[in-house]
Amino acid sequence: MSDNTAEERNSKNFLEEIIERDLKEGRHSSVLTRFPPEPNGYLHIGHAKSISVNFGLADKYGGETNLRFDDTNPVTETIEYVESIKHDVNWLGYEWAKELYASDYFEQLFEFAIRLIRKGFAYVDDSTSEEIAAGKGTPTRPGTDSQYRDRDPEESEDLFRRMRAGEFEEETRTLRAKIDMASPNMLMRDPVIYRIKFASHHRTGDEWCIYPTYDMAHGQSDAIEKITHSLCTLEFMSHRELYDWFIDKLELFPSKQYEFARLNMSYTIMSKRRLRELVEKKYVDGWDDPRMPTISGLRRRGFTPEAIRDFCTRIGVAKRDNLIDVSLLEFCAREHLNKISLRRMVVFDPIKLVITNWPEDKFEELESENNPEDETAGSRMIPFGRELYIERADFMEDPPKKFFRLAVGRNVRLKSAFIITCDDFVKDNGGNVTEVHCRYHPESRSGSDNSGIKAKGTLHWVSIPHVHHIEVREYDRLFNVEKPVEEAAKQEGVFTDYVNPDSLNIAPAACAEPALADDFASTEKSGDNLPYFQFMRKGYYYPDKYSTREKPVFNRTVTLRDTWAKMKKK
Ligand code: ATP
Ligand code: MG
Repeated sequence: MSDNTAEERNSKNFLEEIIERDLKEGRHSSVLTRFPPEPNGYLHIGHAKSISVNFGLADKYGGETNLRFDDTNPVTETIEYVESIKHDVNWLGYEWAKELYASDYFEQLFEFAIRLIRKGFAYVDDSTSEEIAAGKGTPTRPGTDSQYRDRDPEESEDLFRRMRAGEFEEETRTLRAKIDMASPNMLMRDPVIYRIKFASHHRTGDEWCIYPTYDMAHGQSDAIEKITHSLCTLEFMSHRELYDWFIDKLELFPSKQYEFARLNMSYTIMSKRRLRELVEKKYVDGWDDPRMPTISGLRRRGFTPEAIRDFCTRIGVAKRDNLIDVSLLEFCAREHLNKISLRRMVVFDPIKLVITNWPEDKFEELESENNPEDETAGSRMIPFGRELYIERADFMEDPPKKFFRLAVGRNVRLKSAFIITCDDFVKDNGGNVTEVHCRYHPESRSGSDNSGIKAKGTLHWVSIPHVHHIEVREYDRLFNVEKPVEEAAKQEGVFTDYVNPDSLNIAPAACAEPALADDFASTEKSGDNLPYFQFMRKGYYYPDKYSTREKPVFNRTVTLRDTWAKMKKK
């Protein structure tokens, strides 16, 4: 598995070393980090990693973390996304110190821009975007100065104010930082820092028709908030020089940017823009489709916040990008769900089992613990009678030696009930087994077995007259290649070419023990706090948001064992 070893986890990571150095050398007296999502989609598991790093580090050093919406691009951002992000961060178990919006700094950022213009560090450029691009040069060839580069600061200030006043069309002018057209860092070649955009913003409405670029907004927002350590992913490495340049020229609070590796996971994608495409083109049932790597999708599928946090800790922070196997997240889910889930018996593909020495109208309530890992989870009663369902796959007409389930002449234990011995079976005209006949051994009752009879296997079962029908949804990988985006680039296709058409499988009505109906009736219909279940010998399951008492629907979170890893090895 690709997670870090225990030793690596216990030793300090490079961000912790930086923070400890800064505190020791008195560069900062406390730690303030921020999580800065752009509200242009729902958060995904990659964001969970960033959240875990930002909140985790602040927490470790007694500091705080702000939630700052990086809402400087009015076109793609909405309130729905803001609300979902707040909900997800909370659900993951984190509390931010302040809820802030980069758009609240628009006035201040405008003032910063004026300051840069006056100091001769920015100018209004009338070039078209094509001209600007052409003037940028290439990594090996320096750029050329724009003819507006040496424009008088007073003229630039006047034009910039008129840009704000809405006097110019989109794309007719920009504000550019005046840095170095020959810099080996392309971002330093007089980057555009303000654009004209006649777009309504979800918070500032039509107040603005010029918007700052990411680089103009991000570092300055950090400095305004006095963020000590601004942590971001590696692709922002080349922005650091520009980040420092603004802080230096504007003489702001010395926030510093540090980069760590982003989380990439196999068989899925980690980009809000692409996830939005899956939603809009209806490959999935919304942002919270249980196959999505979004926090809301994972929640709906039955992953717990604890499992996601554990996963983020195990992958740790690295300086190099790598690809994490989804099975690590599934491993973390099993670890936690094993401790908290209620055990229930559900037969997916039933075959009738008749206990021939049990009276026809007699039923007995058998007690069974809800969770052997947790005494406080209590127990429930399960009705037992003459006619039961077991899984079709648990009976074989002609079994191999090592088949420890049911076959004529063999014993098995029925979970929380009795040991039974199989005597014979009935077939229909088509040769299908329709009924299995067994005898039970009265002294073999679970908990007080003094029968001396041996049974190697234990089967789950349900009493036929008490069956409660449920719908069960099983999920497979959303994509059928490890890296859909890279694969699409190689094949000159699009990433959606690799959407796995068989990623959702709705099982024919499964037969559940009656307790499951009661569990469900006693929980609220929607909400994030539904009980987690283990369907014994099957996997972990969570009630879907569309589930009702009349039509219960369960999502399979994970199987009990990692069947995928085994399949891949074959
Ligand atoms: P996306 O392409 O999915 O929109 P983004 O980086 O543009 O990703 P933001 O909302 O801008 O998304 O990101 C908020 C924070 O989360 C940033 O600091 C970003 O670096 C971090 N982040 C985003 N994706 C990942 C990832 N896969 N792993 C770790 N951190 C991530
Ligand atoms: Mg972004």
